[in-house]
Amino acid sequence: MKDLYQVLSTLGFTKEESEENEMILDLVDEICKKEIEPYAQEMDEIGCSHDKTGKITYPPQAYKILKKLGESDLMGLAIPEKYEGVGLSFALVNACYERFSRADASTSLLFGLQNSSSDVIEHFGTEEAKEQYLPKLARGEKYGGLLFTEPGSGSDLGSLKTKVVDNGDHFLVNGSKNFISNSGIADTYLFLGSTDPEQKSKGLTAFILDTENNPGFKVARIEEKLGLHGNATGEVTLQDVVIPKENVLGKMGKGFSVVLYELSAARIGIGAQGVGIADAAYRKAVNYVKSRKQFGRPIESFQVTQFKMADMFTKIHTARIAYLIAARMKDKNQDFAEYASIAKLYGSEISQEVTYEAIQMHGGYGYVKEYDVERYYRDARITPIYEGTNEVQRIVISRAEMAKNYAPE
Ligand SMILES: Cc1cc2nc3c(=O)[nH]c(=O)nc-3n(C[C@H](O)[C@H](O)[C@H](O)COP(=O)(O)OP(=O)(O)OC[C@H]3O[C@@H](n4cnc5c(N)ncnc54)[C@H](O)[C@@H]3O)c2cc1C
Repeated sequence: MKDLYQVLSTLGFTKEESEENEMILDLVDEICKKEIEPYAQEMDEIGCSHDKTGKITYPPQAYKILKKLGESDLMGLAIPEKYEGVGLSFALVNACYERFSRADASTSLLFGLQNSSSDVIEHFGTEEAKEQYLPKLARGEKYGGLLFTEPGSGSDLGSLKTKVVDNGDHFLVNGSKNFISNSGIADTYLFLGSTDPEQKSKGLTAFILDTENNPGFKVARIEEKLGLHGNATGEVTLQDVVIPKENVLGKMGKGFSVVLYELSAARIGIGAQGVGIADAAYRKAVNYVKSRKQFGRPIESFQVTQFKMADMFTKIHTARIAYLIAARMKDKNQDFAEYASIAKLYGSEISQEVTYEAIQMHGGYGYVKEYDVERYYRDARITPIYEGTNEVQRIVISRAEMAKNYAPE
């Protein structure tokens, strides 16, 4: 079952890099097999809770997984060695994201957002901020998250209202954010706020917002949701939250482009997440149709079932190639935005189709919790929504296409 390894090995890595890729993926697979997958159903059932004191509690296994990821250096895969990370390619990081998502989509967010935060800090952070945050993120002593969305600004992030004012040697933040993943665990957020409200999207600035010693940062509540029960999605209030001057990412007033970079890179990850969830559902479905008998024969022997398998695997394989190619383009400093949107759009859409079909192949058993596929179906549903809805991806792709010249030569 080395499908991912095979595709990865065709993407122009040297022999040494390929060996390293396999070693890391083997480690990830081992952790997934021992620490994540066997607990995924239980974590979904326990979910996350929020008490009156504001404390958010995750399922106990989530904390053990976090510890294990930190100890195994897996939280710093994308961080350069200079900052105590492993410094691996974006393609491999996303291949790992696929594997974590296959084991449990909720848990995969802990890994995914660590990489998104680290990548942006590495690209846009001041040297002081890099030295302060990247080694801690690499060691798993700090955890990443994204503070972009507001109740009135989702797809239209340029209209956000949270205010940031210059207060001498630091900035002060007041406002609110919602739908924040990793709430209760993340403490190192990429944050987008308005430093010049009159300028609208041109008056936005990106920062690192550290919740440590920042009592004005509060998670007011967490959402009850369809899937991803093992990850707390919080509504955050920000009251006189302090951000040091050196935590600006990029330039003042240029926050929108920092966030566009983050979103493009993270979209590759959502493509990988879609593939991971789809692959999990596909594998369960294949095993099921081999063992389930109707009309005196395994349902695998019906041609309609075989064709479903062919379609499901083709979609998974194609979506995997799409996200790995986009990641490789990023590794090679090529313009990857359109291809990241394609990877996100396709990976998230096939995850709907494949998880739907996996339930169908299980019949009534697919609809009950015992067989896992209903969880995959629920978890997959977020992928066409976050990091930019699929309507937004179609806007990005169609704009890029319209800018090209396809006139006959
Ligand atoms: C579980 C979960 C986790 C999340 N995690 C985070 C997080 O960690 N950090 C964070 O900042 N955000 C997070 N989000 C927020 C997520 O990114 C937004 O929900 C998403 O970007 C969509 O914004 P919205 O919900 O406001 O929908 P809206 O923007 O209101 O969109 C509603 C519908 O209108 C469509 N639409 C909007 N504008 C257009 C247009 N111009 N053309 C065509 N159609 C359009 C959309 O595609 C969508 O179908 C999370 C959300 C969820 C549910």
